[in-house]
Amino acid sequence: MQINEEQLVQVDTQIKRLIASENFYGRRLQEAGITGVATPEDFLTLPFSEKDDLRAAYPLGLSAVPQDQIVRIHSSSGTTGTPVIVPYTKKDVDDWAIQFARCYEYAGVTPEDRVQITPGYGLWTAGIGFQAGCELLGAMAIPMGPGNTEKQLQFMVDMQSTVLCATSSYALLLAEEVEKRGLRDKIALKRGIIGSERWSDSMRKSIADKLGIELFDIYGLTEVYGPGIGISCGKGEGMHIWDDFVYVEIIDPQTGENVPDGEWGEIVLTTLVKEGAPLIRFRTHDMSRIIPGVCACGSHHPRIDTLMGRSDDMIKIHGVNVFPRQIEEVLQEFPELSSEYQIRLSHLDGRDTMRIYVETNGSVDWQEMAKAVATKVRHRIGFTPLVKIVENGMLPRSEKKTKRVYDERYE
Ligand code: ZN
Repeated sequence: MQINEEQLVQVDTQIKRLIASENFYGRRLQEAGITGVATPEDFLTLPFSEKDDLRAAYPLGLSAVPQDQIVRIHSSSGTTGTPVIVPYTKKDVDDWAIQFARCYEYAGVTPEDRVQITPGYGLWTAGIGFQAGCELLGAMAIPMGPGNTEKQLQFMVDMQSTVLCATSSYALLLAEEVEKRGLRDKIALKRGIIGSERWSDSMRKSIADKLGIELFDIYGLTEVYGPGIGISCGKGEGMHIWDDFVYVEIIDPQTGENVPDGEWGEIVLTTLVKEGAPLIRFRTHDMSRIIPGVCACGSHHPRIDTLMGRSDDMIKIHGVNVFPRQIEEVLQEFPELSSEYQIRLSHLDGRDTMRIYVETNGSVDWQEMAKAVATKVRHRIGFTPLVKIVENGMLPRSEKKTKRVYDERYE
């Protein structure tokens, strides 16, 4: 995939606006001697940007318009250090809702639907994006926000919600509660729209089965509008990305070069029409690949695969690169194990060790099971981990992204 003529013109316009605004990007482009782009080759010479660059522009250094045109800000979850502030113009807010409404349409949501929104509202972009897209489409928004599982279930039953918007971990928690309380016959859910993160097929299956719904993966991040820049369509594999708003590249995280379509690498995003805080070649650290060819649904919007993880999730142990997804795929071969697991790395007696905690949902011989898992993992990644089987429900569920890897080697 290569940037097309129209996208190139849009990026060129963005660059000229950024330079004129003298914001963070404008200064950086100017320092690099860039005045515009005319060819796909020019585009590939543009410098990448990183979350740390955006942090350095705190608080409003990303803004590319006069302050009276900013109608809202969002902020990415700064778990460590300075947050990133993203300013939005009226057009940005509208464009985001247009993209989000398109996501709902791709997922088969109609004005008849009742959409229970559990992602958080506020500085975080999630909740309000789900809400604005829902209202633009004309469906009924039920703006629950996160947590309060009792109330979530009550509204799911009483309001007969037909669409659930959630993170995969919270959807699993709700699904388990619905099952535990025997509410399956009392709910009316048909679809789940799940915020993109790497989640396993077994977790997907567990949520779909327990709630009796079809699941869609939605993609996006605060730095680029928020969730809603793409969604899976239910026909083929992967998520369509709205390439009239965002241009997507996949690069080799080590060399920064574009990889051929079909190959895995890091997602890099460039906004095409964003006014408040345009982004040029923003490195997301999300790992995916372009799915070659046209989707069975007929849409010509390009597709990226379900996220493999984060480039910074990659574990280096015994000289081997390991992605949590590889461990996950081994665990999925055991139907007696639940979809929940945890990987802990530690340094004991001069040696790195990997412990895998995994839940069982059956009455299996735990020691035998641990041995069988360890053997399979060794075949897959080349060394033997310590495997501990724990009782179902022992590992933490979270309303946000569940942390799976704990690296305690250098603490
Ligand atoms: Zn499709």
